[in-house]
Amino acid sequence: MTIDSNISRTDSEHGSSDEPVFTTGLLINGIWRQADSTFTDLNPATGQPLAEVSDGSAADIDEAVAAARAALNGEWKTTPGAVRGQLLNRIADLIERDGAYLARLEALDIGKPLAQPGMLDVPNAAATFRHFAGWADKVQGTTIPTGGAMGRPTLSYTVREPVGVIGAIVPWNTPLMIAAWKIAPALATGNTMVVKPAEDAPLSILHLATLIVEAGVPAGVFNVVPGSGRVAGASLVEHPDVDKISFTGSPEVGRHIQISAAQTFKRVTLELGGKTPQIIFADANLDAAIGGSAMGLFFNQGEVCAAGTRILAHRSVYEQVVDGLAGAATAQVLGDPFDGATTVGALINEKQQKSVQAYIEKGKAEGARLVAGGETGKSEGFFVRPTIFADVDNSMAIAQEEIFGPVGVVIPFDTEEEAIRIANATPYGLAASIWTSDVSIAHRVAAEVRAGAVWINGWAAIDPALPWGGMKTSGIGRELGYAGILANTEEKVITVVM
Ligand code: NAP
Ligand code: MG
Repeated sequence: MTIDSNISRTDSEHGSSDEPVFTTGLLINGIWRQADSTFTDLNPATGQPLAEVSDGSAADIDEAVAAARAALNGEWKTTPGAVRGQLLNRIADLIERDGAYLARLEALDIGKPLAQPGMLDVPNAAATFRHFAGWADKVQGTTIPTGGAMGRPTLSYTVREPVGVIGAIVPWNTPLMIAAWKIAPALATGNTMVVKPAEDAPLSILHLATLIVEAGVPAGVFNVVPGSGRVAGASLVEHPDVDKISFTGSPEVGRHIQISAAQTFKRVTLELGGKTPQIIFADANLDAAIGGSAMGLFFNQGEVCAAGTRILAHRSVYEQVVDGLAGAATAQVLGDPFDGATTVGALINEKQQKSVQAYIEKGKAEGARLVAGGETGKSEGFFVRPTIFADVDNSMAIAQEEIFGPVGVVIPFDTEEEAIRIANATPYGLAASIWTSDVSIAHRVAAEVRAGAVWINGWAAIDPALPWGGMKTSGIGRELGYAGILANTEEKVITVVM
């Protein structure tokens, strides 16, 4: 066990014994060290200890912020965009080199089937670094003609400067990918950072940190302090020398962060939860709609902010959709994330498992018809079987609240107007799917749905070039694409009075 690297292996990789497999440190100013105390991160598929993780304190956050502030004013300040771009491309190369290992870390730490991070999280993280590598030397200002000032002609131009020191707070469901969405645009535009991973899944971000060091990013530009939200997270949000918080997580914590950040006028972007409707019209290709909706429900155990958990089906195809989704739920293979046959892994922890089970009981008590799943399905680990409720009214708790587990509700509708009304009738507005072969229905409904992303005949067609973020309770601001450049820069106008 060493403390100068982030992750050192101490036992068999699956964590089936009582001893943690990994021990980890924190990265401040280019140096790995351990914190004064640690916490235990569990393997969700076994319930056994997986890692002993350094528990960052307020003092550790303070030191990391000081390192990031110093680095902002150091060689990083004059590092040309083209060089920042080369560094980001190198990080992408290293993510690809270590892709299989990163996928294993995600599967171990989160309990998701190994194939999923291999297919999505790892390539998306690499692609995100490449996308923003391309932006790094193309962030431009404008010249703005005006009528002059006090009778004298003027020349006005704008520049985009880094926001400064950015605190990034990441959830546990897809940590590598979400961290990449925050880190790549921030570094591309010349910011420095302190990242706080989630207690339940810090390992992939800690390995990514070693890759960022290996790529040659100067010391202090990128710091990682794992720890609790209550201590490390809150210290970052309250810190007077942090300029912006980029947060992905729950609405409850997001609200608290916005209130707290207001004390120091920090910029915030909040990517919060969702209750994504998937609207299936009578003319849809039903096989594609049912298959796509099922993927939107069960991918990553339903622990996805954009999980398509409310299936709105036209009454003429309603029973077919219910039967199809019930069949798809029953066909999912629940089990060991490292077994190639597994399609649905474990939920992140016991609290989440109990919360999802409580929603299932609430659904039954509210009078919804359980057509698949409902049980945990396994004696060890934090599993819940893929579950479908039919005959759901949109006012029920299972239709209104984010469950963050493999639970879908199917709601009938009669008209396009009713579908739109139900789709919009939750506090959330992150995403929506529309399944139809009528191009006019598709665009009419897309225009009316209050959501940051709308997918027509698909689900979760995400890309680093496309803006990502929500309306209403789903959050404030956008990440990725050009929106990611704007969110990580301040615009300054300079006027010459001639
Ligand atoms: P969470 O409880 O809000 O935690 C998110 C992060 O915030 C964790 O790192 C957590 O630390 C930290 N945190 C907790 N309390 C804090 C505080 N007082 N101050 C600062 N930081 C604090 O959310 P979660 O349960 O991890 O993730 C699930 C939620 O995230 C769902 O609502 C989901 O929809 C949302 N999500 C949204 C998106 C999106 O793009 N919109 C993507 C993924 C997930 P700990 O380590 O202590 O937990
Ligand atoms: Mg974990």
